[in-house]
Amino acid sequence: MTDEVEGLGSIPHAYYTRERPQTGVVLLPGQENHDTGEHPENARRLPGVVKCLRESPEWDRLFVLSPRYARLEDAVRSHTEGFVDSIEKACAQAPSWLDTDTCVSEGSLQTCLLATGGVLSAVDAVAMEAYHQPDSLFTISRPPGHHSGSDRAMGFCLLNHASIAARYAQAVYGFERIAIVDWDVHHGNGTQEIHWRDDSVLFISMHQWPLYPGTGWHDETGEGEGEGMTVNIPLPPGSGDPEYLQALEEVALPIVEDYRPQLLIVSAGQDGHAADPLSDQLISLSGFKAMAEKTGELARRLGIGMVLVHEGGYNVSTLPAIDRAILSGLGGFEVPLDDVFVPSPQIPPADWPERLSAVIKSQLPYWSVLR
Ligand SMILES: [Zn+2]
Repeated sequence: MTDEVEGLGSIPHAYYTRERPQTGVVLLPGQENHDTGEHPENARRLPGVVKCLRESPEWDRLFVLSPRYARLEDAVRSHTEGFVDSIEKACAQAPSWLDTDTCVSEGSLQTCLLATGGVLSAVDAVAMEAYHQPDSLFTISRPPGHHSGSDRAMGFCLLNHASIAARYAQAVYGFERIAIVDWDVHHGNGTQEIHWRDDSVLFISMHQWPLYPGTGWHDETGEGEGEGMTVNIPLPPGSGDPEYLQALEEVALPIVEDYRPQLLIVSAGQDGHAADPLSDQLISLSGFKAMAEKTGELARRLGIGMVLVHEGGYNVSTLPAIDRAILSGLGGFEVPLDDVFVPSPQIPPADWPERLSAVIKSQLPYWSVLR
């Protein structure tokens, strides 16, 4: 069912007639088959999240989707065939390493194809018009993908789920404009590399800088046809809710709105949380809820579906609460948001105003909405 809405054209009925947005999760079996041992990105990250969600009062409100496997032909829209072959060979010789941070076990490729397939299933669910169509879906999956480039694994990542999902949506649904917003604490350098010269995918990364992998300065804006389609917002160490929300509301979301994408993909890493061992950022549970809420509100206003991918997030004890906070922002319900890990008062990073001005200056030639 669709309706004509002034300024938005024909959009699915579900998006604006519901009192409350419908959100949910994609849950994946067999995540332990990507066996990384004592690595920070390990099989203990997600079972606690799933258990917590299943036992939460909001569980009955969530749309729950089962994944399917992505096909190799899906993966090679973003990666070279040689790279996918190299993962397969590494799995056959497992345990082995694809880079200094990225190890594989025998079941790693299949686990990755299921994680990517979960994102593709989510794209189908939000893109196909149906009576029970959710507004947004969050794929609870591992390993992460946003460091993985067209022909290399990197930083715990094998297949780039967000990029593969964008190319899938273009190939299957004919979408011409996809936006990927990446709030993982690390720069999404793999996604940036794949779409560096691509004007059909807008990529916006909000990340701690300096931090691994070292890229993502504000003057990296894309090249060729993709010039102006890469937006980097490097936040200083010690940034918390005020800085992230300012980056989102004053740069990322206005650009997304101006671009008018037909699908919004979020690389929704949780490693910017105050208790994460791999970063210096101070985002609280309330901050994650607010980022999800504001991004979800924009997607609903634009009448488009939104898919969130579980990237980094390495404190196993806080991940369940962060994921609940994100889902509460998407679904418009309440969850506990007390956060003992966030210092009070917070000291704003002194160089943030200067960074934000530099980002806006780099992007103004392409996005007049920032004026
Ligand atoms: Zn990360």
